[in-house]
Amino acid sequence: MEPFDDRQTIRQEIISLLSSEELTIRDLSQAVSLPEKEIVGHLDHIERSLQRQKKKLMITPYKCLTCGFTFDKRTRFTKPGRCPDCKNSHIQVAQFYVK
Ligand SMILES: [Zn+2]
Repeated sequence: MEPFDDRQTIRQEIISLLSSEELTIRDLSQAVSLPEKEIVGHLDHIERSLQRQKKKLMITPYKCLTCGFTFDKRTRFTKPGRCPDCKNSHIQVAQFYVK
C-alpha cells in the first residue's frame, strides 16, 4: 500500500501531463511508470477532484475504426475488446486531457 502523499504526487503529475497534451492510458502508464490498470484508478479519482477545481477531464472516447461506433461512458477508461456493433476489434484508443 502506497502512502497517501505518493498517490497525491502521481495524480498531480498526471494532471500536469494532461494539461499540456492529449495522452492515452498507455502514454500515461509509461510517463509515470505505473501499470495501465493503476492509471485507470487514478483517472477515476482525478476526474472527481478536477470537478472541485472547476477543471474538467476531457475524453476522446474509444472508437471503432471499422464502423465508427463510439463507446459510451461506461467503457471510457478501459479498452473494449470488440465493437458491439460490427464485432471488429480495430479500436482507436481513448485520449485524455485536462481543460
Ligand atoms: Zn464497429
